[in-house]
Amino acid sequence: MKKKIVILGAGESGTGSAVLAHKQGFDVFVSDKGVIRQKYREILSAYDINWEEGKHTEEIILSADEIIKSPGIPEDSPLLISVRHRNIKIVSEIEFAGRYAKGKKICVTGSNGKTTVTNLIYHILKKAGMNAVMVGNVGNSFAMAVADNSFDFYVIELSSFQLDGMYEFKADIAVLMNITPDHLDRYDYNLQNYVDSKLRITQNQTKSDYLIYWGDDPVINAEMKKKSYNMTLLPFSDEKHEGMAAYVSDNNLIIDYLNKTNLMTIYELALKGRHNIYNSMAASLASKVLNIRKETIRESLADFHGVEHRLEPVITVCGIKFINDSKATNVNSAWYALECMETEVVWIVGGIDKGNDYSELFSIVKKKVKAIVCMGKDNRKIIDVFSDKVATIIETGSMEEAVRSSYYLAKKGDTVLLSPACASFDLFKNYEDRGHQFKTVVRNL
Ligand code: ADP
Repeated sequence: MKKKIVILGAGESGTGSAVLAHKQGFDVFVSDKGVIRQKYREILSAYDINWEEGKHTEEIILSADEIIKSPGIPEDSPLLISVRHRNIKIVSEIEFAGRYAKGKKICVTGSNGKTTVTNLIYHILKKAGMNAVMVGNVGNSFAMAVADNSFDFYVIELSSFQLDGMYEFKADIAVLMNITPDHLDRYDYNLQNYVDSKLRITQNQTKSDYLIYWGDDPVINAEMKKKSYNMTLLPFSDEKHEGMAAYVSDNNLIIDYLNKTNLMTIYELALKGRHNIYNSMAASLASKVLNIRKETIRESLADFHGVEHRLEPVITVCGIKFINDSKATNVNSAWYALECMETEVVWIVGGIDKGNDYSELFSIVKKKVKAIVCMGKDNRKIIDVFSDKVATIIETGSMEEAVRSSYYLAKKGDTVLLSPACASFDLFKNYEDRGHQFKTVVRNL
């Protein structure tokens, strides 16, 4: 009898998994408690895959040999409790697709910088003429790309939630950008749980694999001391020191792996800011491992366009620069955004607090921020912690209000920076919606 695979959730990853499972010859059933989008319904029907929406029929689901679960479905839902009770194996889309992927897997995770680095690596690979696809947390389903069976390289962005559902999966090249507190609400407010999740990117790696990571990250370094890692380690740093495979010396980006190369100056990088030097080094190392020519890497890092909502310049109005960094959904990313500001800043911050500790921002805020514009349903914590550090703090409850107030508070030569350090769901659909609204209101000033 055919093995029966049930897929819970028919979004991007669920639909991709269904198509892959179908192509692999399994008996497939898809169940979504909500409404399945037309686009995905059409794909399922085109492959003659059985599905249901608006409910989860337990008797069908509990007859599965294996279940592929979309990351959005909470672990503690009654259905999943029943599934566990029956000892049915639950895996993620990435785990499932990893079993059938023939090409090399370059996997990027970290608290910040994942999407940027994933895009950068993909950009370099394409420029080098390689047959690559970009998938995972960035948008397109890994499983669907595997079902396509035509790629030699998968550049995969992995969130910690995706990593949590991975067991046998192995990255050929793993990139771990950094580990700073994020999503602690989903990890019982225990940093170690979140750290363990991120480190899963290294699991199953062997001598012939690679781990690229930020060599100065105290959390990663502490983990590295706990056990021995036998893959090739390629740490990077913005300073030259012992053992670094990439570093900055006299403003030159040096790659010291295989043969030592002076790649380019940091001024030639398309993406500005210290964090983007890290991102560029990580992408260069991954490309070096894949034997891409230095000229191609240099050219790609110099002409990369950046990704929307990441320190994205919008426009300058009456000498006031507006920057959209809506994707800065935690404290650390906001720190890097503030750090690379070259003028006085009116800072739009706030949203849903994920257990934020703002203390690491105190000194940079004192130095650069002239006014804080809180934008959220509950702004008390931000007002409390910053009231003795910044002269002007005001509360707003919508993007329109936040942008207009910032415009009023800023002077010619200042920057208005939207870098919220928080999730967006109190006032917006998601961070993209927040960024788009920001840009629309700014453009209408
Ligand atoms: P992620 O996909 O991990 O959320 P992004 O590449 O989308 O990361 O960047 C999100 C935000 O984090 C950016 O707006 C930027 O302010 C900040 N950021 C980007 N790269 C880094 C990095 N290497 N270290 C710290 N912060 C970063």
